[in-house]
Amino acid sequence: MMILLINLLAFMFGATIGSFFALVVERLPQGLDVVFTPSHCDHCQTKLQYYDLIPIIGYFNQGGNCRFCHNWISPQSCFIEIIGGLSSCWILNQYNTYHLLGASLFLLLFYAAIFDLAYHYVDQLVLTLMFSLTIILQNRALFANLLPALVVAIVLWLLSSLTHGLGLADIELIVILVLAFGLQITLWLTLFACLFVILKYYRHHYLPNIEIAFIPFFYMAYFLIPWLPLRF
Ligand SMILES: [Zn+2]
Repeated sequence: MMILLINLLAFMFGATIGSFFALVVERLPQGLDVVFTPSHCDHCQTKLQYYDLIPIIGYFNQGGNCRFCHNWISPQSCFIEIIGGLSSCWILNQYNTYHLLGASLFLLLFYAAIFDLAYHYVDQLVLTLMFSLTIILQNRALFANLLPALVVAIVLWLLSSLTHGLGLADIELIVILVLAFGLQITLWLTLFACLFVILKYYRHHYLPNIEIAFIPFFYMAYFLIPWLPLRF
């Protein structure tokens, strides 16, 4: 019963963070204020009531339509809130002990995934933050991971300059993950992220000549970590 309650709290916490991230991603590139502008309907601009702002519940409570103008509300925020809630529960059950680096990188990757999905690029600030956190918090294996990270960086950078098939931000992310978690986990994550991308576009029989948001697939792969046959 206690575990259920803790998980419920973790879910609410994650959903709230997801709700906030969705708002930041929507408003920040437009130069809109995130904290002080009240949430409103995109169609009729009516200010939302406090009970409409509760993550997930607010969306279903309105039946997916605006209470005032009855226009359809995009379920995107609700979807991000659910993913956020599930992620939070996942972190809680994955790390029995308080794992600051794992949890904070997971959080930033979540934000980067939403941003990448919306705009097809990654905020450089997020990558810088992930890199700084890794340098500060990863003290045990940082030096052991330095050489693999360097080799991965060189190989991927050369590959990218030859084929233009890989974004610079994706390379930076992979190198940061090698520094933080080592080559083994990162290789698994990259493989699964690639597999997810291929599966998504498989029915087209070719990869479309567009920028593919890679980070969301990376985020999906993150959830597989507990089932990977890792050896330390
Ligand atoms: Zn409305």
